[in-house]
Amino acid sequence: MVIGHLTIRSRLSKMIPDGRIPHAMLFVGADGYGTLALALDFARLAVCSNPRTVAAADSGAHAAFTEACGVCRSCVQTSTLQHPDVTILTALPTGKFDSEQDLPDDVLEELSAQLRTIAQDPYEPFGLRNAMQIRISQIRNLKRSLSLSSVQAGKRIVIVHHADEMNTEASNAFLKTLEEPHLDVTIILTTQNPVRILPTISSRCQELFVPPLAEADVTDYLVNHHDCPIEEARVVARFADGDIIRARSFLTEDMNAERTEALNLLRAALKGQKYRVALADAIQLSTEVKDQKRILRLLQFLALWIRDTQLVESSGTVDIVANIDQTEALQKFSASFGTADLALCLTSVERASRDIRRNVSPSLVLLTTLVDIRRILYTTRQTAAV
Ligand SMILES: [Zn+2]
Repeated sequence: MVIGHLTIRSRLSKMIPDGRIPHAMLFVGADGYGTLALALDFARLAVCSNPRTVAAADSGAHAAFTEACGVCRSCVQTSTLQHPDVTILTALPTGKFDSEQDLPDDVLEELSAQLRTIAQDPYEPFGLRNAMQIRISQIRNLKRSLSLSSVQAGKRIVIVHHADEMNTEASNAFLKTLEEPHLDVTIILTTQNPVRILPTISSRCQELFVPPLAEADVTDYLVNHHDCPIEEARVVARFADGDIIRARSFLTEDMNAERTEALNLLRAALKGQKYRVALADAIQLSTEVKDQKRILRLLQFLALWIRDTQLVESSGTVDIVANIDQTEALQKFSASFGTADLALCLTSVERASRDIRRNVSPSLVLLTTLVDIRRILYTTRQTAAV
């Protein structure tokens, strides 16, 4: 199952019948954009014995692509990731063992459970607990198996998940494998950190940048795979920036509670004379748990609220806002502050996120930012002419 990214899938699928499959490709993009999903989809197609052409429903010609048939023997095997000619390499946890062959039982179990999960849903996070490095022994094993002929006399695909996790030895051994390409073997590296891959490796790979998913695709995914009600899915997708893993974290972290918290901070900052006490209380509540990511999400909610206010002010409607379940509150807020310098407020929130990432004290950042926003909102709004 792979969603969206029609142009990329079309481009990839055209390589196969034309026999223009590169020996090595590097898929660069956040895990949540579906880099692994695209790699697995490509593997499935490459080994399928009866691929079929589909025209995407809303397509221009560019979006027509080939996909695996789903029923041939290869497809049955790849659907559970048990095809002998599709290999996935991933970092192993530290321990005495040297390769996949002599992994302790609990790690083996974890690995096969994870493989079953991504076979079902390739947008799930993939990687063993405490795994840090892809080791040289794994690359040696790979080399050995590539020197044998393919099991089903067809193409072979090797996916190196998070290729930047190869340690130096492994990278050097891997480079040699790339320098002696094997017929009918394609190696796909995936990474979120392309700068951590040896330039001598990346220069031998055809690079493919995987962009964020379209918001509509994220919405569909949440509705179809997480039984998320459409209204909520639309809100979450708007906040997720095309990243399914981030979208899912919003679902599990109780997005609504965090958004309410962010808005409470804003409300406290906008109170009358005694706002300082209310604001200090709200900030204390929000910073009790030391969690940088959580503070960044609060700031993100704040930014989206301000952006929505801009939209309501400029369009006069609430049709396209992110907080579609909060339209009444948004209209009220917009009536009070819609004419203020909201762009300046956004700059203030952006600066706050940067400071949080630089480990400035969260309480201090929230206090200065919210006092700043209060000042901007009250002093720059135009009060209605009499
Ligand atoms: Zn097939």
